[in-house]
Amino acid sequence: MQLNSIAWAVSAGEPLDAGGLDGDTTADLVILGGGFTGCSAALHAAEAGLDVCVLEAESIGFGGSGRNVGLVNAGLWTPPEDVEHLLGKRDGRKLNEYLSGGPELVFELIRKHSIECSAIRNGTLHCAHSNGGLRDLVRRHKQLLRYGAPIDLLDAQEVSVRTGSNAFKGALVDPRAGTINPLAYCRGLAKAAIKATVRICEKTPATTIKQQDQRWLVVTPTGSVSARFLLVATNAYTLAVNGIPAMRHTRVDYCQFATTPLNDRLRGSILSGLEGCWDTAPIMSSFRLDGDGRMIIGGIGSVDHPAASIHARWARAKLASLFPQLSETPLEYGWSGRIAMTRNHLPRILKLGSNGYATFGYSGRGIAPGTVFGKSIAQAIVTGTESELPLRSVVSYSENHTLLRRVWFESGALAVHALQSVRLG
Ligand SMILES: Cc1cc2nc3c(=O)[nH]c(=O)nc-3n(C[C@H](O)[C@H](O)[C@H](O)COP(=O)(O)OP(=O)(O)OC[C@H]3O[C@@H](n4cnc5c(N)ncnc54)[C@H](O)[C@@H]3O)c2cc1C
Repeated sequence: MQLNSIAWAVSAGEPLDAGGLDGDTTADLVILGGGFTGCSAALHAAEAGLDVCVLEAESIGFGGSGRNVGLVNAGLWTPPEDVEHLLGKRDGRKLNEYLSGGPELVFELIRKHSIECSAIRNGTLHCAHSNGGLRDLVRRHKQLLRYGAPIDLLDAQEVSVRTGSNAFKGALVDPRAGTINPLAYCRGLAKAAIKATVRICEKTPATTIKQQDQRWLVVTPTGSVSARFLLVATNAYTLAVNGIPAMRHTRVDYCQFATTPLNDRLRGSILSGLEGCWDTAPIMSSFRLDGDGRMIIGGIGSVDHPAASIHARWARAKLASLFPQLSETPLEYGWSGRIAMTRNHLPRILKLGSNGYATFGYSGRGIAPGTVFGKSIAQAIVTGTESELPLRSVVSYSENHTLLRRVWFESGALAVHALQSVRLG
């Protein structure tokens, strides 16, 4: 198996190869970060008539957007009543409403811009790994029904039929949701943005930002952009930029391992509806098939350190325990990505100066939310009305002990994965 190789790249088509910034230029809106948030904001702002320039430190989809599981889910991890409890009734309801329509926006953009990203809208399954997990799903089910979500609770037998695994006590199925190749979706958004006149500069990290006379000056090693409006959409991959406040959050790593493509016989017995799945375990795991029939299994953890083989061994054992028929199927790819987790698992929008925003902290649920937030921030910039935002903006946000929490998550995942490898293997 090749570690640090991302299976999504195999079927995501050609990279953009957009070229870098060369010299000094101007724009109406400059965006840092070429993930879902930055590309969605760029596309929607350009469609509304703004001249937009996106600066991406690496390549489009380099961050979480090109590394995630590809589950296009409605809402956040936090169920809707809890969101209202955290934000207050009015603000909580607004955020819930924006995000319950998130998958609709994603699949509509895919259709409208003919984005080839193996999109399947057959629902996702949140699977109960234990009786406690099932109780959590029952609570979520009740809340979601009260909010009008078309969600269903499956029993163990029904989950077994849909997944091909006998490991679960039940599952919540959300038919609004679906799966995509996330890297292909991100590149597709970027290509649609370019068609709408957006300039995208890859390999162009912003290093310094200044606001002078109501304009932003964003400096990079190869040139600068002067623009009236600014959006920082760098989430968990933020490289230090002088001149703007740090966006503190806890980094949580999540790794995935992809098998070789399954043959038709095996594919017929597993996830025949191609739903994406994740479970209720505190150190959670996910599984789904990709467009080429690879089984992709994931769990908390990073592959960027010497003990990464523990996560790989766990993936092997977990796969065999869920689907004994895959116990001999080799793993071909393994990679990880960084999640930006906030204290209460809700995203944030920061107001920067008079004409700027930064957004981050999707806490592991960012495909639909990133697309929605990008669009809404573009609309707020175009119309000059903050009521377009799904969340009230704040002028600062900080968290303590983020490094400690990151170490806690990674060492907890290593311990659990090591124990489970022994127990399951
Ligand atoms: C492994 C994993 C699994 C996940 N699974 C799911 C899932 O199944 N469903 C779901 O909804 N969400 C999921 N998420 C969350 C989701 O992927 C993220 O919330 C989302 O991708 C964030 O998008 P973004 O555009 O805000 O940031 P990113 O995609 O991270 O993009 C930020 C970009 O900013 C660039 N950058 C950083 N600093 C600078 C700078 N100074 N100048 C210029 N560019 C800069 C980076 O290179 C990067 O490309 C997952 C996340 C991970 C990591």
